[in-house]
Amino acid sequence: MDLLTTAPRGTQDVLPADSPKWRFVEQTALSAAEEYGFHEIRTPVFEHTQLFLRGVGETTDVVQKEMYTFEDKGNRSITLRPEGTAGAARCLLEHNLHTDALPVKVSYVTSCYRYEKPQAGRLREFHQFGVECFGTAAPAADAEAILLAWQILQRLHITGVSLHINSIGCPTCRAKYHEALRAYFAGHVDALCDTCRSRLERNPMRILDCKSPVCQGIAKDAPRMLQYLCDDCAAHFEAVKQYLHTAGIPYEIDTGIVRGLDYYTRTVFEFVSDALGAQAVVCGGGRYDGLIEELGGPSLPSLGFAMGIERLLLVMQAVGAPMPGPAPCDVFLVSMGEQASLRCFALASLLRGQGIRAAFDVVGRSLKAQMKYADKQGARLTLVIGDNELATGLATCRDMKTGTQSSIALDDSFCAAVAQKLKEG
Ligand code: ATP
Ligand code: MG
Repeated sequence: MDLLTTAPRGTQDVLPADSPKWRFVEQTALSAAEEYGFHEIRTPVFEHTQLFLRGVGETTDVVQKEMYTFEDKGNRSITLRPEGTAGAARCLLEHNLHTDALPVKVSYVTSCYRYEKPQAGRLREFHQFGVECFGTAAPAADAEAILLAWQILQRLHITGVSLHINSIGCPTCRAKYHEALRAYFAGHVDALCDTCRSRLERNPMRILDCKSPVCQGIAKDAPRMLQYLCDDCAAHFEAVKQYLHTAGIPYEIDTGIVRGLDYYTRTVFEFVSDALGAQAVVCGGGRYDGLIEELGGPSLPSLGFAMGIERLLLVMQAVGAPMPGPAPCDVFLVSMGEQASLRCFALASLLRGQGIRAAFDVVGRSLKAQMKYADKQGARLTLVIGDNELATGLATCRDMKTGTQSSIALDDSFCAAVAQKLKEG
């Protein structure tokens, strides 16, 4: 493999043909979020490793196996962010955003880094759109975030996605559940994978999230958190469901969804696509009422979700959702001779100033080659300018679709005349 011409495994370039799709997804998500009162933040690509140990949790796959951690030249342990929530929470606390009116609602588009086995929909550098709502325990906030995610999927014309929800309770009711889980898995301890065996003591709920088929088989019959919810958590879950019902969003209860950390609480949800194979979860989220306190802040019940942008694009492609392509050139100025080239350079700049996508020959090609190139760029109009045209002050304009030719004066009316021609076509 040539290291100079091959990108690292699990990374992906976005080429000109695809970047408009990315921009469409990002802008659709960010502007929908804005309508819901979430405002964009941008946080660094790397943070202190400690933040993710705390903020993601030591028993998660992300922390145990997937982090890009290194020591910088000042001997600090640094980690490339594997997800967006921890950085957003750190940002909130560092800038005291939570001392303003609550809740604080933020959104972001970020690159994330996880050392995983690359496959379709699973990369080492990937991108997330996410939101966080800090400072409310009300079930209406859970439902609002879920509705936002739903809205974004609708606006991207993503069909065949179902919403799965669950509640994983609070530290009080979960303690009893952990006991029940330990008792259940104790009977299968020899069959569990090494990771799950180590999870058994520290965080047995994570076993439900294991990707090994053997562990999944065992976990299938394990007791479910929903049966162990305390009254408050049960009422909270009921209220979330009621809001979702009011919003008209169909959902199914999926008792297998977990976010097995002490500071993840109550509502958890996923949007799952039926158009993808294994990597079918396009959005995951939930409540983390204990996280901000865990990071040294005040008690601040909060929640959020993140969507994988690569997976959204895969689903959009699979379901045939309309996606924008690169904007074609509006006008190509074909120049013949040095004087004409100078003039085209100036005219192109004038047109661009009017928001018209203009190009001219920067190679020194023949007339024929310029026309061919203009056609390849999808130019709607070409304008031919040579010594003759400079002398008469009239350029020959050709509509590339219809083949009709006309003259355009090279005077003050030039930009308006070109704009008019574009409008006609
Ligand atoms: P999975 O179970 O697929 O590993 P996860 O639970 O690790 O997902 P989250 O941490 O909840 O994922 O991240 C939120 C979203 O980010 C996921 O639903 C998915 O769409 C996307 N995502 C997660 N990991 C990757 C990855 N390695 N490559 C591409 N997208 C990813
Ligand atoms: Mg994962």
